[in-house]
Amino acid sequence: EKTIKPIVAGNWKMNGARASLATLAEIGKGVSASLASRVDVMICPPATLAYTAAVASVGMPLAIGAQDCHVAASGAHTGDISAEMLADCGARAVIVGHSERRADHGESDALVRAKAEAAHRAGLVAIVCVGETEAQRRAGEEIGVVADQLEGSVPDGVTADNTIIAYEPVWAIGTGLTPTAQDVAAMHKAMRDVLVARFGAQGAAMRLLYGGSVKPGNAAELMAVAHVDGALVGGASLKADDFLGILAAY
Ligand code: PEP
Repeated sequence: EKTIKPIVAGNWKMNGARASLATLAEIGKGVSASLASRVDVMICPPATLAYTAAVASVGMPLAIGAQDCHVAASGAHTGDISAEMLADCGARAVIVGHSERRADHGESDALVRAKAEAAHRAGLVAIVCVGETEAQRRAGEEIGVVADQLEGSVPDGVTADNTIIAYEPVWAIGTGLTPTAQDVAAMHKAMRDVLVARFGAQGAAMRLLYGGSVKPGNAAELMAVAHVDGALVGGASLKADDFLGILAAY
């Protein structure tokens, strides 16, 4: 039996305007107290909505997170947003190293690690994303690739309280494709072993999320896999019914 409280986090990506706060409210209404006792719920809207979403979420059984941060606390970085600014808005967590940022912005493991450190400096939970490409999986390299990403992207000294890992195979994001439950089990066991070897009891207690085309129809099977402690959800977090349908796995 699993002893780690799971978390299901929605990543709205570059979607959502002020009107989307209605979706947030619908999600909040759909999460009963008993559901909230079994699973933590988070929505990561675009940074433009972080503050209004955090204000709107007061009294709702969900937390607000962000999708990226700069490594510095402040300074001459036009257009960037620091972890401290996100914390000031009421965000509790920030996603770092999402594959879209690794691809679109050339983010390296070292940069992702520095961003996770910035998140911790600001008192935020870092949700560190890792995952192999389709070519890497076809070559049978997925376990090694993800182990290397964990080694490079997760800072030293992290705890189960300040860090969450999200395994998101790049080929499964937004495609409707998912690995089999057996493949997810193999990856999550491998990640657990890496994290326990490096962080001991903190690695054993750290939440390991699966992400990539999680939908109401596949959530129960994926969330039941050993060492899967929740989900990071993209497309299906944009509609309250879909997101609540995923939460129904708990
Ligand atoms: C994501 O990008 O974090 C994600 C899991 O996307 P989707 O659910 O749309 O595949």
